[in-house]
Order: sequence, then C-alpha cells, then structure tokens
Amino acid sequence: MAELSPALKQATPVVAARGEGVHLYDEDDRPYLDFTAGIGVTSTGHCHPRVVEAAQRQVGTLIHGQYTTVMHRPLLELTERLGEVLPTGLDRMFYLNSGSEAVEASVRLARQATGRSSIIAFQGGFHGRTMGAGALTTSGTKVRAGIGPMMPGVTFSPFPESYRHGWSQEEAVRFALAELDHVLATTCAPADAAAFIVEPVLGEGGYVPAPPEFLAGLRERADRHGILLIADEVQTGVGRTGRFWGLDHAEVAPDVLITAKGLASGFPLSGIAASQQLMSRAWPGSQGGTYGGNAVAAAAAIATLDVIAEEGLVDNAAEQGLRLQEGLRKVAAGHPAIGDVRGRGLMIGNEFTTADGQPDTATASRAHQAAAERGLLLLTCGPHGNIVRMIPPLVVTADQVDEAVTLWEQAVTAAT
Ligand code: PMP
Repeated sequence: MAELSPALKQATPVVAARGEGVHLYDEDDRPYLDFTAGIGVTSTGHCHPRVVEAAQRQVGTLIHGQYTTVMHRPLLELTERLGEVLPTGLDRMFYLNSGSEAVEASVRLARQATGRSSIIAFQGGFHGRTMGAGALTTSGTKVRAGIGPMMPGVTFSPFPESYRHGWSQEEAVRFALAELDHVLATTCAPADAAAFIVEPVLGEGGYVPAPPEFLAGLRERADRHGILLIADEVQTGVGRTGRFWGLDHAEVAPDVLITAKGLASGFPLSGIAASQQLMSRAWPGSQGGTYGGNAVAAAAAIATLDVIAEEGLVDNAAEQGLRLQEGLRKVAAGHPAIGDVRGRGLMIGNEFTTADGQPDTATASRAHQAAAERGLLLLTCGPHGNIVRMIPPLVVTADQVDEAVTLWEQAVTAAT
C-alpha cells in the first residue's frame, strides 16, 4: 500500500470533502471557516457557481488545447479581459501553471531582454521551490537546506522590516534602500543586474507590506540603471490586498508582473505580463510548457474576473480587511503574546513574540491548532513559523469576519 510522502507538512489534520464559499466541510460534514483559501487561491470562494458553470461548460467543449500547437478561445478572451486590469503598457501575456514556473519565466525574460544575468531579490522573499525560483527564495531555510547549490546569479538585499528591528517604517525604508545601494556598489554591479524581484507584501516570509517609499525607491533605481522591476504578485494580486494589484498601493509600475493563485479560483494557471517591447526581446520558443494556459483554467479565470467585478470583491477585500485587522488588533491588545498585527486587505499576519521580543513559535503553533479545533482554518508563516496569517476568500462577509475574530480570541486565550 502506498502512502503520502513524509516530505508533506500538513498545516491541519482536516480531510476536506467539499467546499462552498468561505467554508470547507470534512468527511463528517463538519464546517470550517477557511481563512487559508488554499494558500490564497480560492479568491471567489470554494466552488463559486459561476466558476463551476464556466469550467463545466469548458470541460465538455475542449479541455486541452496545447497553446504552442493550437490556440483556443478561452485564452484569447482571458488575455483581452486581463488587458482591462493590468497596469498600463503591460499588454503582452505569457501563461504557465504555477507561481514558480511564472517566476522562472520572468527570470528567463529578464536575462534575455537585458543581456545581463544577475537578479537581485529581497531577504525574506518567497518566489517558489523550483531550483530557479527557489534560488530567489529566503523565507526560511527549510526551503533551501540540503537542497543547493541553487541557480547562480542571485544577490540578496534587505527587505524593509520595521517590526523585526524595532524601527519606524521610515527607518526601515532608509536602511533597506541604503543597503541596496551598497549591494549595487559592492556585490552586484548595476551593469550586471537584469532585474529586481519583489513581493508587494512579503508573503511566506512573514506578511510584511512593502512601504510605498521602498517600492518607489526600487523603481527609481531600476530606471537609473536599466534594471527591470519584476513584481511577484502571485499572492498579492487579483484583489487580495484591497486593490487589484499589490503594487497599486504604491502607484509604482513594474516592468514584469507575475500572477497566479487567485487568478483562476483554484485551477492551476499563472502568467507573466510585460510590454510588447520587452516581450519581443524574448526569443520565440524560449518560453513554453505542455500544460500552460489550459483551456478549463482559462475559462475559470474569465469567470473569476467576472465575479470579482460584478460582486465588487476588490472593494470587499479592502473593507473586510480593515474590519478583520481592527478585530485582530483588539484581540492582540488583550494578549501580549501577539506583538504585531499587520497586513493589507485580506492578507493579515499576527506575530507572536516572547516578552523579550524573540519569535514565539510555540504559542503561535498552539493558537493555530486551537483555532482549527474550533473550526477556523489558518496558516502560519515567517522564518520561525511564529506568524499566524489569515487569507480568507475575497467573498468573506462582515459576519464571517466577526465569527473568525471570536474564534481567534478563544484560540489565543486557550493557547496562552
Ligand atoms: N511567489 C509567491 C509570492 C508565492 O506566495 C508563491 C506561493 N506561495 C510562489 C511564488 C510560488 O507559487 P507556486 O507554489 O504556485 O509555485
């Protein structure tokens, strides 16, 4: 008899039998409020009727039209629709399946387009687990230890983390940009740097929003040195942060935008967007993949964009995100083990720290499990796993937010 590999680390013991909206149901039909959304994927909720209907219709029409062999209508229509929401000028799409693949595609494009080989990434960033994307990832040593050597040509610079250093946001930004200038002067010459890759909100690395001044500083340096700015919007994109793209908070335009996760409500679909001028510098055939741009995933993505627009889900993410963050701050005020609550939109982290400011992984882990026992599914993140994060589907209601905050209060009380 075969079993699943012990390399799999499952956050909860739940076996999900079905999902509906913000709820998952186990095999005994016990409901769970799902504030994980399959790691930020089920943007329109589980099995949104519009997404189900679009996917079912497509399954009966054409499942796989291999897009380097034949083109198909859902992908053309999706591309047209994305044109309505992508940053101005980023009007060429290339599709893949996962976030990691799209990150790798962005590196290929950046290297080909600039003729330079180095990529500058930021400490704490998560960009995937494949050998290229993994080389850019520093959210925790568990995704690197014993696995290297990874792809060469990567240089790291600090991400502005104010809470970790006990700094104001301004101090954190000043430090991070000064260190970046130092890296460009000492380690990676601008003439060798193809791209910066950055998450608008540090995700797996600890749910730290990038201050707009930091992102603007990257844009300025990118322009000054002819370095491309790649926005990894795999987790922050498609409404998650209360704006359509995470970079919208900073009003900074990237050269390459990477999207995945929430794009197709659970079907595997990712993509990179760039200008015609940039994309035309990729050599034809240099990007590809058997399954990229799958027809059913594309149909689900079109339905996802419809639902997001018609149900006002970006605004809902902003509104419910504020409500959730306010509720969580009240819980934190009564529990000193929670040192910080932060995030943007429906991407919020609760950081557990000891009295002397050290990561408190044990309490975070107890609170996370106590929440699951009470019917609230959450995830942890950060290099020490001491940040309990909440990323509900964008359809979450005020009542569901309030219910989650009540369950969270009970869980934290039980854990501390
Ligand atoms: N980039 C970011 C910002 C992510 O959050 C993730 C996944 N958590 C990835 C890339 C990798 O995506 P995937 O797991 O689909 O390969």
